[in-house]
Order: sequence, then C-alpha cells, then structure tokens
Amino acid sequence: MAEKAIDPVCGMEVDPATAKYKAEHGGKVYYFCAEGCKREFEKDPHKYMKEGHSH
Ligand SMILES: [Zn+2]
Repeated sequence: MAEKAIDPVCGMEVDPATAKYKAEHGGKVYYFCAEGCKREFEKDPHKYMKEGHSH
C-alpha cells in the first residue's frame, strides 16, 4: 500500500497515509503537500481537475 498521490496544485508527490491536507471534490479525494496548496485548490477546483470534462 505505498501508492502515491499527486498534489494537483504543485505536482508534488504526496503520501496519502501521512498527508495532512486533503480535500474531496466530485467524489474524489485530493492530497496536498501544504495548506497553501489545499487553499489554492479550494479556491478554484476546476482549474486543477483536468479529467472527465471536455468542451
Ligand atoms: Zn503542493
């Protein structure tokens, strides 16, 4: 169970097991390396969600 998550804001690898900052959006959980990244994501989640939608 050493699966890594990617911080969608800065692209850093985050370990979900120890990640302190996470947010759920659209049924998916996102992990962040820092509170600032989480805040950025929550400000504009769609900016960081690249999958699932097309124009
Ligand atoms: Zn980050």
